[in-house]
Amino acid sequence: MTSKNKNWEYSPSLEGTGHIKLKKKYDLFINGKWVKSSSKKYFKTINPNDEKLIAEISHANQKDVDLAVNSARKAYDTVWSKMPANERGKYIYRIARIMQERAKELAVIESLDSGKPIREARDIDIPLACNHFFYYAGWADKLDYAFPNRKTKPLGVAGQIIPWNFPLLMAAWKIAPALAAGNTVVLKPAETTSLTALKLAEIIEESGLPAGVVNIITGHGDTGASIVNHPDINKIAFTGSTGVGKIIQKAIAGTDKKATLELGGKSANIIFDDAPLDQAIEGIVNGIFFNQGHVCCAGSRLFVQENIADKVIRKLKHRMKSLVVGNPLDKNTDVGAINSKEQLHIINKYIKLGKKEGAEIYQSECSIPKKGFFCPPTIFTNVAQSSIIVQEEIFGPVLTIQTFRTVDEVIQKANNTPFGLAAGVWTDKGSRIFNLTTKLKAGVVWANTYNKFDPASPFGGYKESGFGREGGMHGLSAYLKLS
Ligand code: ADP
Repeated sequence: MTSKNKNWEYSPSLEGTGHIKLKKKYDLFINGKWVKSSSKKYFKTINPNDEKLIAEISHANQKDVDLAVNSARKAYDTVWSKMPANERGKYIYRIARIMQERAKELAVIESLDSGKPIREARDIDIPLACNHFFYYAGWADKLDYAFPNRKTKPLGVAGQIIPWNFPLLMAAWKIAPALAAGNTVVLKPAETTSLTALKLAEIIEESGLPAGVVNIITGHGDTGASIVNHPDINKIAFTGSTGVGKIIQKAIAGTDKKATLELGGKSANIIFDDAPLDQAIEGIVNGIFFNQGHVCCAGSRLFVQENIADKVIRKLKHRMKSLVVGNPLDKNTDVGAINSKEQLHIINKYIKLGKKEGAEIYQSECSIPKKGFFCPPTIFTNVAQSSIIVQEEIFGPVLTIQTFRTVDEVIQKANNTPFGLAAGVWTDKGSRIFNLTTKLKAGVVWANTYNKFDPASPFGGYKESGFGREGGMHGLSAYLKLS
């Protein structure tokens, strides 16, 4: 699949799939063994590029969740909490190294199952996931240095529920700090992207990690709810929609379960007239179009200073013409497949709504494959602060563009949303960056860049984007009792 624009046609450069090993059916990884779910039910995981079946995945019910939590508790009480911290660290290093050895396989499976371009999976998701294990392995025996003059104690059994946008990376964000802090884990991946978490279970098995320390179970929302409501879980770590985040918060209210919730976003990307414009255009494209806008911190609201708005929009449209939408396994692809039919339906509903609200639409002039779930990069101008497409999270390659004149105006507009996950600021002036970083209500503010992640750097939101931080020492403290 290539762009309609002849200047941007490339020959296909497909990543091979010969080196990946996938089973037809996957069971649950509980207590170091692969076990069938007690319901014996399976659901399908399909390739969003061609809608073909990749594998069948086991659906864990309440009984299976019980088994997984019991095995995590037993491993916590008898092995993991008693093990010297440097030994714990060695296991986490070993997992990181095996992941690195199998990086190519993990990248291809991630791309097949989620629809993200192989370039993103290969260069971002998988290396970052490995780096999280390496980073937290280093902390395992240095907790006293991380939190000087304080006593550290693990929380116990952590229940972790993750979404479909960064499947392996989210698993790493959650499992690595939990293990380093001395907890045991029950993790559930999202129903449309279970495969790399199940591959991680194979890696964990190969690493020799004691049975039950990490249990990986698959299923839908009901499986997640059984984890959340299980009485023997000490901590819930959730990344997903704000709606489910609210359900979880209600469910654990009044219990002594600790929680970190990383929820939705509607992040502002702000371009001042003194910004390096070509870099800013790349930042916009990276912020919302690469990875199909399937990023909770996607820069989905663009604010451009009024005197450069025409120029920025012209340059952005020109750049959008060169974006290649198509087969995620093609190394030339910039924008891959939308993760599921349901998500594509949601995105298309918002695009229709945007037009109905009177906004002006521009879409990349690219051809879209007939099969599979695809959406061309889309921008909306002439939008109001109150437009639904400006207020609600779309989770697709859809950008709204607004203008501003003054710093105060843009701060007000950027903060005028129920969310507060991330923001980007593009300007030549350091003083302006510092002024904005303190006034923007967002957990992360990037300056002259966008969507940059590092295991040492904490990530998380304000307001309806959730609470708690993952990454860095903040992420470690979220799995510890500190006294
Ligand atoms: P998204 O809209 O990104 O798919 P969801 O919040 O629906 O996000 O899903 C994120 C994760 O939460 C998935 O693993 C999903 O199965 C799980 N989930 C869905 N509903 C519930 C629930 N009621 N309780 C716990 N987990 C849930």
